[in-house]
Amino acid sequence: IVDRIASSSTPRVPFSVEFYPPRDEAAEARLWRAASVFSELGAAFVSVTYGAGGSTRDRTVRVVEKVVSETDLVPIAHLTAVGHTIAELREMIQMYADVGVTNILALRGDPPGDPLGDWTPHPEGLHYAEELVRLIHEVGDFHVGVASFPEGHYRARDLDHDTEILLNKLRAGAEYSITQMFWDVEHYLRLRDRLAVADPEQAAKPIIPGLMPVTSLRQVRRMVELSGCALPDGLSDRLRAAAGDGPEEDRAAVREVGIEFATELCERLIGEGVPCLHFNTLNFSRATHEVLANLSMVPSPGVGATRA
Ligand code: FAD
Repeated sequence: IVDRIASSSTPRVPFSVEFYPPRDEAAEARLWRAASVFSELGAAFVSVTYGAGGSTRDRTVRVVEKVVSETDLVPIAHLTAVGHTIAELREMIQMYADVGVTNILALRGDPPGDPLGDWTPHPEGLHYAEELVRLIHEVGDFHVGVASFPEGHYRARDLDHDTEILLNKLRAGAEYSITQMFWDVEHYLRLRDRLAVADPEQAAKPIIPGLMPVTSLRQVRRMVELSGCALPDGLSDRLRAAAGDGPEEDRAAVREVGIEFATELCERLIGEGVPCLHFNTLNFSRATHEVLANLSMVPSPGVGATRA
């Protein structure tokens, strides 16, 4: 992934996208349409999520296998430790190797059902992502990434503790991190500063910002609730004003504000020299495509040219 980012030919900065494993045929068709668009646009990689406790295990494997065999995209397969024994995790890592995956994002995961609920590790499993990074390296020849949290993980004691946890994951052999979504550039910059002060060597590893153009107020409220990241007042006010007072939010107006705001955020991040822009797409291509086109990185959707 570090090499992919370094050799990307997208103008200005590389970009990448996150998919989740689809549940039905319609969602599956949408995913592969989006994959085809992002392949044309030159995405540096696609990451594929893994449902808590292995709930999407087979679907995640199927999606990454198809990405490897049928597209020219490079996948990162997510893996979470929660609910699995160490033996099951070894088996899962081997399964990834068998389908040609060489990049894994090592995560601890959240308790299934209620992500904010009590955390009880599996008696024969792992406690933290740091241990999973080591296990993946033990099982095979993989490139490993981890999660980072610009606003701090919601279970971390404080930001210094959160920084130390991330550094431990990087020292255990992770080559980069992908951040939790955020909408205020200051959170990203402060995370980068904390790492640089605490351990300049590890801080040199790419911190890839996780982004999401807001297309629905209801949806983003749910995301904020689940992830513990905050919407800045400025964005919240703009989105609420766009949504209007009616019983149904004005989706077109909310989407316009969401894309405009994401474009502004990306401009600032590019100005700050980020290594890559990573978009949570929810398996849709259009909003991300519009943001990338606004940034003059790719042609606008609907314009004939393909790779920029
Ligand atoms: P860890 O780094 O292990 O941290 C978990 C908690 O334990 C933190 O509060 C940390 O402070 C604490 N901790 C860690 N190590 C120690 C230690 N040694 N001593 C004391 N405390 C410690 N979830 C999914 O289910 N599937 C996905 O595909 C998925 N993809 C994600 C992708 C990204 C980019 C991000 C940012 C998150 C993703 N998540 C996913 C959510 C993630 O699993 C949760 O946020 C989870 O709560 C934390 O995972 P982690 O890997 O950061 O855990």
